[in-house]
Amino acid sequence: MKKFICPVCEEKYESYPDQEICRCGIHFGYEDTAGGNDAKRVELYAKFREAWIANGEAELSKDQIRDSIAKIINA
Ligand SMILES: [Zn+2]
Repeated sequence: MKKFICPVCEEKYESYPDQEICRCGIHFGYEDTAGGNDAKRVELYAKFREAWIANGEAELSKDQIRDSIAKIINA
């Protein structure tokens, strides 16, 4: 079975948890899509992870997630 590890908080899943919300707060298949741009998606995960670590590894708020998305998508 394919394994998926959250690139933000390293939570383990059996497969990509489409439409699930991770313990780090990321809504898979929605907030992590980066408009379908794979390179931006990698940057987006890095930005989420940076924010998550800065947050004391606590669940990100929707504002923090939106800020991270805006930094990548509008860059
Ligand atoms: Zn996660």
